[in-house]
Amino acid sequence: MTYAFAQVGYIVATVLFILALHWMNTPDSARKGVQAGVAGMAIAVLVTWAQPEVINHAWIVIAIVLGFGVGIPLANVPLTAVPQRTALSHAFGGLAAGLVGTAKFYLWYGEGAGNLTTFRMVAITLEIILGYLTFTGSLLAAGKLQEIKWIPQRPVTYPGQNLINGLLFATAVGLGIALALHPTAPWATTAFPVVIALSLAFGVLLIIPIGGADMPTVIAILNSYAGLSAVAMGFVLDNKLLITAGALDGSSGLILAIIMCKAMNRSFTNVLFGAFGQVQQANKGGEQKQYKGETAEGAAQVMEQASLVVIVPGYGMAVAQAQHKVRELYDQLKKKGITVKFAIHPVAGRMPGHMNVLLAEADIPYTDLVEMDEINPDMPQCDVCLVVGANDVVNPAARTDKSSPIYGMPIIDADKARTIFAIKRSKNPGFAGIDNELYFSDKTWMLFGDAKGVVGELVKQFAGESGMH
Ligand code: NDP
Repeated sequence: MTYAFAQVGYIVATVLFILALHWMNTPDSARKGVQAGVAGMAIAVLVTWAQPEVINHAWIVIAIVLGFGVGIPLANVPLTAVPQRTALSHAFGGLAAGLVGTAKFYLWYGEGAGNLTTFRMVAITLEIILGYLTFTGSLLAAGKLQEIKWIPQRPVTYPGQNLINGLLFATAVGLGIALALHPTAPWATTAFPVVIALSLAFGVLLIIPIGGADMPTVIAILNSYAGLSAVAMGFVLDNKLLITAGALDGSSGLILAIIMCKAMNRSFTNVLFGAFGQVQQANKGGEQKQYKGETAEGAAQVMEQASLVVIVPGYGMAVAQAQHKVRELYDQLKKKGITVKFAIHPVAGRMPGHMNVLLAEADIPYTDLVEMDEINPDMPQCDVCLVVGANDVVNPAARTDKSSPIYGMPIIDADKARTIFAIKRSKNPGFAGIDNELYFSDKTWMLFGDAKGVVGELVKQFAGESGMH
């Protein structure tokens, strides 16, 4: 009876997880999706807790309290820190899978022959290799994204790196195969910790050659590793929910990584082994190019004459938390009968959907958010393009300069607009570390300053003016 009850509970949780992913497809049902995920996980924990095998409830209570202790602060990080927060979650997931696999191995080994079947040992080996490498790899990825001082942001490379990594991984897998074939051999208890150590080391070595710019993609790949280790854990524990939830996690991580790679025109191998962001591009030609500055007043005068204004938000809008001011500007422009659209690049910001979330938070109607492919044909008709803290995603070098590291990445054709105003704080480059020709174009005027402040100034110009009438 209890078994049947648990299976029904697990099916309900699985359905909720699938619905959660489905509902997260569109912004208006995303909140429902999150709630379904939370409900699914709560059911999964409670049903598992109710199993008769659970004899020590104190440990479960301690684990739940610890989980809340870590989870609540993690839930409150700013949106710009979500990629590293996600990496930390994968690190915890990987560690949990690794520890469960380790505990099960020693438990079954101690109980003598019969328990450690080849099937179980294959599952345990997969679980610990993927679990422990996800643990150290994700911790390092989180550290790089958080820009922790003693962790190098740039790719760390050395001769023979891929060979050394390959050999290390092959040794771990080879030992794993030997263990699966002879799980109860006397040397198994020595080989097992060696596999753990190699996996922990491999996680670090896998991530150090990858630059900060590729970290969000790598995190999505690590997400799929964490999911796969959960699938293996499901086979070890004979828990179907873990198998399905792990498969959902693994495949969604993979899909996300593919979306990100496509949006940056990069391949998996290029992300994992390309050491992107290592070479700082020298400024070709040597001549000092000039920016043209503009005041909020001047920009507002031009915008007022426009019939179509396209706003391109980027990472800088997120940093400045300028979305509410942008909403005010949107309202002011609309009041004047100007058509306003937002051009959304799939990797603007630091995670897919970053801009959609921020603009939704400011209650900007989804209907005015236009995907890159849809807005680009309209860009030549755009009177004013206002770039708010975006850089790489509007860099025309991606279209024209074969030597540029972002060559081939699809971009928003801001440079095709009649007039461009670009808001940023300084002359520093964007995420990819390269100059942006757009800012030196004849048609572009820079509005230097913090995005929230500058957009606020623009709003004041319009508000002040309408106040006078
Ligand atoms: P970028 O990081 O290229 O540029 C952001 C710009 O915002 C900078 O030039 C910066 O200039 C400016 N900025 C920063 N803070 C502020 C502020 N407070 N006020 C005003 N401006 C500010 O961002 P994009 O969104 O254009 O591009 C995203 C990059 O991230 C791409 O290279 C993409 O490939 C990469 N990436 C994105 C992923 C995703 O899923 N979204 C995943 C992996 C990588 P300044 O310092 O002068 O102010």
